[in-house]
Amino acid sequence: MKIKDAKFVMSNSDYTKCPEPNMPEYAFIGRSNVGKSSLINALTNRKNLAKTSGKPGKTQLINHFKINNDWYLVDLPGYGYAAVSKTMRAEFQAFLRDYLAKRENLICTFVLLDSRLEPQKVDVEFMQWMGEYHIPFVMVFTKTDKLNKTKFIHNMKKYEDIMLETWEELPPRFYTSSVDKTGTEEILEFVEQTNEAYHQK
Ligand code: GDP
Repeated sequence: MKIKDAKFVMSNSDYTKCPEPNMPEYAFIGRSNVGKSSLINALTNRKNLAKTSGKPGKTQLINHFKINNDWYLVDLPGYGYAAVSKTMRAEFQAFLRDYLAKRENLICTFVLLDSRLEPQKVDVEFMQWMGEYHIPFVMVFTKTDKLNKTKFIHNMKKYEDIMLETWEELPPRFYTSSVDKTGTEEILEFVEQTNEAYHQK
């Protein structure tokens, strides 16, 4: 899929006030600094569609972008380090939980994970929570340009092991870099195919 058109629509903290759920929607979430804004900008070929870290403003809101007049890309707030202390469930902002659990046109959530790190508790707990609520997600590893192959294989194996402790199989996984654009075509292809299936329903 080529992204010809990407438009900011609105930001808010109430899923009932989000745009009418008349198009398939894909959300992006991850810890602060995981590389979410950079990936959204790389996917959409825009320098500054999503605000990268350090820029104040829309980072604590649900941000809707309309892509090709055909689907919504949603930039969700990063879950921060504060959530590490208690369980994700207890700390997770209510509006975000509501959005993820109740937004009817949310087809899939891209959970961003830093490929440089072994599985982090907060990320694993978040995916666990998604599973408990039957909210579909895929795993997107970021910053793959930043580590060597040995370390990459090591970290990915750790993720597999920890996920397979509770999941029968792993969700689809994407390996990305916003610097060299690794994985961006695969993600857009996934969205395109999922959209086709959605429209055929
Ligand atoms: P966000 O807080 O999740 O939106 O993260 P940002 O997109 O703002 O990225 C956080 C930092 O990581 C910034 O300094 C980015 O330049 C850097 N970064 C993001 N993605 C990549 C990547 O794929 N490769 C490398 N090398 N750096 C990245």
